[in-house]
Amino acid sequence: MVTKRSIYRSTVFFSALLTLSGYALAQSSKTPIQVTADLSEASRKLFHAEYDFPVTAGPLTLTGAKWIPGTHGPNGPIDNITGIVFTANGQTLPWRRDDVDLYQFHVTIPKGVTTLHAHIDALIAGRVSQHLAVLEWEELLLYPANTPVAGIPIQPSVIVPAGWGIGTALTPLDAASYPTPSAGAVTHFAAINVEQLEDTPILTGQYFHEFALAPEISPKHYIDVASDAPEDSNLRPGLLNGLSNLVREADALYRSHHYNQYHFLLTLSDVTGGGGLEHGQSSDNGAGEKTFSDEGHQLATTGLLPHEFSHSWNGKYRRPVGLYQPDFATPEQGALLWVYEGMTRYLGNMVLTTRSKLRTQAQFRDYIALSAATLDNQSGREWRPTVDTAVGTSLLRGGGAGGSGWANWRRGSDYYQEGELLWLDVDTLIRTQTNDRKSLDDFERIFVGKGGNTGPLIVPYTFDELVQDLNEVTPYDWAKFLHDRVDTINPRADVAGIERAGYKLVYTDRPNESERILSANAGRRVGRGAGGSGGVEVWYSIGLRVDGEGSIGDVRWGGPADKARLSPGQKILAINGQVFSGPLLRTAIRDAKGKSDPIHLILESQDVISTADIDYHDGERYPSLVRIEGTPDLLEEITKPLAPSPVKSGVQQ
Ligand SMILES: [Zn+2]
Repeated sequence: MVTKRSIYRSTVFFSALLTLSGYALAQSSKTPIQVTADLSEASRKLFHAEYDFPVTAGPLTLTGAKWIPGTHGPNGPIDNITGIVFTANGQTLPWRRDDVDLYQFHVTIPKGVTTLHAHIDALIAGRVSQHLAVLEWEELLLYPANTPVAGIPIQPSVIVPAGWGIGTALTPLDAASYPTPSAGAVTHFAAINVEQLEDTPILTGQYFHEFALAPEISPKHYIDVASDAPEDSNLRPGLLNGLSNLVREADALYRSHHYNQYHFLLTLSDVTGGGGLEHGQSSDNGAGEKTFSDEGHQLATTGLLPHEFSHSWNGKYRRPVGLYQPDFATPEQGALLWVYEGMTRYLGNMVLTTRSKLRTQAQFRDYIALSAATLDNQSGREWRPTVDTAVGTSLLRGGGAGGSGWANWRRGSDYYQEGELLWLDVDTLIRTQTNDRKSLDDFERIFVGKGGNTGPLIVPYTFDELVQDLNEVTPYDWAKFLHDRVDTINPRADVAGIERAGYKLVYTDRPNESERILSANAGRRVGRGAGGSGGVEVWYSIGLRVDGEGSIGDVRWGGPADKARLSPGQKILAINGQVFSGPLLRTAIRDAKGKSDPIHLILESQDVISTADIDYHDGERYPSLVRIEGTPDLLEEITKPLAPSPVKSGVQQ
């Protein structure tokens, strides 16, 4: 709780510090902070750091990073920073946490002191296993508060466990210590600024490989892989070819780069789990051990690397003005995330993934069908416009089928998938308006090509600039077009792009090919499908997410199961007088088709047994795309590779 007294005291203190720490920094702006990250105890879930700050006498405020770019939320892990000790000239200095901004630490620097040493420990919850670790620098970051982070020079070094390799886009000062330093050695990197250091993670692992990708493309691209099992980090040649294609296709699409070199960092581990975080010159990608072991396993995750790579252009180089703050203390504003994430989903997960042949055109169509069906059955769109899922992201991100249920009525981070359909709508409209002379590719060359090739840089944009650049491709009332789709209530999904591309979203009584591959390889539907292992897909029919044991993860608001008063958290014990199984539920749905008898269920809810009748007679429903005969196939056009065939001699090892 914040009292009036503490607000007053803090405000006065804050203003004084703003001046003083700015002054202290100006005095020492030529001398970088030195930081050595010690990851040698990563397998014990501990990182350590030693800092040397150039300082002058007087009050100094250091801070941890709060608003983390790419996560769009105030989730800097300050609670995990422990063991803080400040010393100067051999003496320990007392510190005090700020009463209001809990990320800040106040220290008074004695007269005559020019270097402040700080030791910190970080307790690490994720991205570490017995064989690998990823350092996202906010886990160990401490820097002068109330100062633009791009103006704070810092020189990083790292220590990793003996024999482990290092992958990072930081520039090593001694080539011999990268990518595999000798035991106990400190690997030093060139000085950068705090903004860029936060944006440049380090991967380290016992079973480590670095592969060059598309060697004929400049600047250079690498994938650095660490895995828990020795064999997994030695990626298949087929996958490496696909990733080299990705580099070529991104080069042909964007025609500019905003990095000096690019490193895909990839962990393959069932311990550290999945997910991705974008950075300007690298991306931090996590996947399960066997995710890339063959094309079937790969399908569910095939868009991850293309997505995070595309963010180097859309999200890192070009960033919505509200999502770029001069420090990591000012709140980020997410209103334009349907561009930042939505366009990245369209171009990364869909277009580039298919142009690179990491996914077939048929799989691309299946993907669109699943995405469109998910959105069209997202009941919360009846009360909440897409823009609100973006504006509210730092508080309301997620909304998966876990937790309390009814996630579809709340909506989740829908700006991601809404963006897929929205930018397909834009792309096909440009193609139609210009008789196929132009496309969204032309927009990208304007939007992310401004300034030509650059090193890592952030150039913010506004909604008006976006509209202006679209108009440069082809004149249209783009402002109204975007407002109508993003800012207003749209009870149905935007399928205009699908239809303009020559296809229609339909529901059939069989899962499409990709759905079958996904469930065969995962044992459960990926993304927003049925929750839990061995679940059956009945979301588009009776409106339930059910796992293999009959537990209900979620109920579709307004669907047949909702009308029968079913609840998230209930368990289905029996169907039409027989003990529950997934296949039995599907059979019951099929058998009820065209008949008048309801599907009879016995349910358990904590200690209460009840019955329910689902009055549903339309059979099984799985989304699929079908061709509209006699129209041009723009989906095929959109996903044709752009890049010239690779040079034969450039084979990856
Ligand atoms: Zn993203």
